[in-house]
Amino acid sequence: MSNLNNIRDILEQIHSLQIQLNELNESLRRAPLVLKAQEGNIQKQLANLNRINETYQKLRSEAKQKESEVTANDQALDKRRTQLQESKSNKEYQALQLQIKADEAARSVLMDEALEIIEKADQYAHNVPDAETELKKVREIYEATKKKFAEDKPEIEAKITLFKQLLEKEEAKLPRDFSEIYKRLVHNVGGNEALAVVENQKYCGGCNHQIPINSLAQILQKKPITCSSCARLLYLPKDFVFDKG
Ligand SMILES: [Zn+2]
Repeated sequence: MSNLNNIRDILEQIHSLQIQLNELNESLRRAPLVLKAQEGNIQKQLANLNRINETYQKLRSEAKQKESEVTANDQALDKRRTQLQESKSNKEYQALQLQIKADEAARSVLMDEALEIIEKADQYAHNVPDAETELKKVREIYEATKKKFAEDKPEIEAKITLFKQLLEKEEAKLPRDFSEIYKRLVHNVGGNEALAVVENQKYCGGCNHQIPINSLAQILQKKPITCSSCARLLYLPKDFVFDKG
């Protein structure tokens, strides 16, 4: 049984290394994609801040415009009140009185409008610092992620080199009949999907397909057996107990 245990151990070790290598390669592959997505977030928040700033400035200039309309109206009123005091005829006096009444009514409307728009601008104002905070946040996340990826990269690459060396050593230990099938699978489906452990005494760990009892018996007899559903080369777990059913 020692040879079988040997093959089992080798396959298990190879599988573990392939899974780890796959994860390491995946994290290297994902890093630029993650950064790109976060850059997109920054652009989005920047555009949002610009839009909010524009709206706020527009409200402020509208408020200013209304205020200057009120001032102009007040100046016109002052002028007419002076004219009223200096009026020479009854007719002129009455005309000016009417004009002043109309200007006072207009002033009241203008003041209401001015107050409304000033209030609107004041209520809107908090959107600016909120959007600035949001932008700052996504920028910080991006910088932290970038820094972490840069720090992790050499470590990941060193691990990949080491695991590849360990993998080569293990692969060299495989008997020829196993090696041929394994190499073909690595070539066709990739190292990560070349192997599967038998789970719960009878299921392929790769696709959950039920392994026939005679296949399990053949694995125990040191034969290279692949899953008939997903083609992964199967090996038994250390604690496997053969149950003839
Ligand atoms: Zn399978």
